[in-house]
Amino acid sequence: MSKLSRKAEDYLEAIFEISEEKGYARVRDISQKLDIRPPSVVEMVKKLDGLGYVVHKKQEGVFLTPRGEEIGRVIKDRHDTIKAFLMLINVPEAIADKDACIMEHKLDTKTVEQIKNLVKFIQLSPDRPPWLDHFDVFCRTGEHVCGSDECKYRRKLVEASVS
Ligand code: MN
Repeated sequence: MSKLSRKAEDYLEAIFEISEEKGYARVRDISQKLDIRPPSVVEMVKKLDGLGYVVHKKQEGVFLTPRGEEIGRVIKDRHDTIKAFLMLINVPEAIADKDACIMEHKLDTKTVEQIKNLVKFIQLSPDRPPWLDHFDVFCRTGEHVCGSDECKYRRKLVEASVS
């Protein structure tokens, strides 16, 4: 990952998302998206400009350089991947969004790659995999509803190892 701070990565992610929509980002847009006051935004934008991640043109707005765009894209992709994964395991959307924003900066690239593979694999299944529904029931009741002999056998092993 980049050597930038979490905060700086959040800025590049936000600027990337805003720029995807309108081609550039105003300080006001960034301020609203990150819920940070404009003077602090201006300060960070100045820093990122100095480091070569954005160019701040006074009248036109903030533009990502190729380096800045690359990081913004990666962080947003990590965010989307982790959020989708957390929602697959029944984390409510608002919490999934909040925690994705923490995890997106910390996890090893390999971990994110495998989470992404899992999310894609499940999303590409032609039908909703039955075990996802079983998992729903398990979350609510603690009951493993799969009725196969193999499953019953494994449950006995788990119960025996717990007690
Ligand atoms: Mn984020």
